[in-house]
Amino acid sequence: MANTRTVTIINGDGIGPEVMAATVRVLEALKVPLDFEYKDAGTEVVAKYGTNLPHETVEAVLRSGIALKGPTGTVVGGGLPSANVGLRKRLDLYSSLRPVKSVPNVKTRYENVDLVVVRENTESLYAGLEHIIVPGVVESLKIITEKASTRIARFAFEHARKHGRKKVTAVHKANIMKLSDGLFLDCCRKVGREFPEITYEEVIIDNLCMQLVKDPTRFDVLVAENFYGDVLSDLCAGLVGGLGVVPGANIGERTAVFEAVHGTAPDIAGKGIANPTALMMSAVMMLDYLEHTEAARRMESAIWKVYSSGEVRTGDIGGKATTREFTDAIIAAL
Ligand code: NAD
Repeated sequence: MANTRTVTIINGDGIGPEVMAATVRVLEALKVPLDFEYKDAGTEVVAKYGTNLPHETVEAVLRSGIALKGPTGTVVGGGLPSANVGLRKRLDLYSSLRPVKSVPNVKTRYENVDLVVVRENTESLYAGLEHIIVPGVVESLKIITEKASTRIARFAFEHARKHGRKKVTAVHKANIMKLSDGLFLDCCRKVGREFPEITYEEVIIDNLCMQLVKDPTRFDVLVAENFYGDVLSDLCAGLVGGLGVVPGANIGERTAVFEAVHGTAPDIAGKGIANPTALMMSAVMMLDYLEHTEAARRMESAIWKVYSSGEVRTGDIGGKATTREFTDAIIAAL
C-alpha cells in the first residue's frame, strides 16, 4: 500500500503481549496504512539473545523511527540494566510525554483533570552515575546540563503551543539545589520568553505535590528534570485512575517510542484480564504523531464511548470484562 509506514512492535513481558494484541486489533480495524514489524525485548528473551535489548531491536526502531512497546520487566538492585533505560539512551529519546486526563465513568477524587507531564529523560540522578567512595558511603551524581534543559524546555513550550495549552509550570528545588536546579530554571525562563502567549510559572516540587493532590485542575503542562518527572508522572496517573489508563511516549529528534506506563503486572499475566487502555491511548498518541489525526480521534472517541457507557470494564477499574471483551467493545464503537 502506498505511504504505508512501518511500526516496530515490542510486545515486552508479562501482560505486554496481551495488551499489545488488543491494541493491534484496534489499529487493524481502523485500517490505517501501518505495517507491523515485531521485535523482541525484555527479561523473557534474555535466554535467547543473552540480553534484554537485542541489537536488532534497536536497529529496527532506528530504521522505522517509530515503536509501540509493551512493558518490560526489570530486576530491583542487580541483574541486567533496564531495557527501557537502554532504549532511551540508545535512541536518545530525550523527552517523556505523559498526558493525564480524567476518564469518563472512572471514579476518582477529581473530575476534569487534563494536564501533561513533560519529563527530561537523559540526565539528573536517573543517569545512574553511582559509585562507592569507601565501604558504607555511596555517591550518586546529579548531572544537569544547559543543553538538555533547554531542549526539554523547548519541547514543553512547543507542545503547549501546538496543542493550544495555556501554561507551562517548571518544577524544581532550586531553593536547595541552587546550581543544578537553578540552571534548569534559567533554561526554562530563557525558552519561555520565546512563547509570550503561554503563561510561565515555577513551583517547588514538594509544594507542587501538595497542590496536585489538592486541586490538579489548575495545572496544564508540567516540565521537570528526570527524577522529579518520574515521581510526578505516577502521582498524576493516580489522580485519574491509575497506571492502567494513562498513556506515554518517549520522543527524540528522529525516533519515538509509544508505551503504556504500567509494568508487566506479573500477578495477572496470562489470565486475559489486563486493561489495554493505557497502550491503546499510547497508540492514539502514535497516530497523532504520524499525523493520522482522523484515525486518532476515532480510536480515542471509541475508547471514551466504551468508558462512558460503563457497561464493559476490566477488573482493575471495578468491572468483570476480559481484555478480549473490552477490545471487542472498542472495535464495535469505532
Ligand atoms: P505494575 O504496573 O506491573 O503492577 C502494579 C499493579 O497494577 C499490579 O497489581 C498490576 O496487576 C496492576 N496493573 C498494571 N497494569 C495493569 C493493566 N494494564 N491492567 C490491569 N492491572 C494492571 O508494577 P510493578 O508490579 O511494580 O512492576 C512489575 C514489573 O514491571 C517490574 O519488573 C517493573 O520493573 C516493570 N515495569 C516496567 C515498566 C515499563 O516497561 N515501562 C514500567 C513500570 C514497571
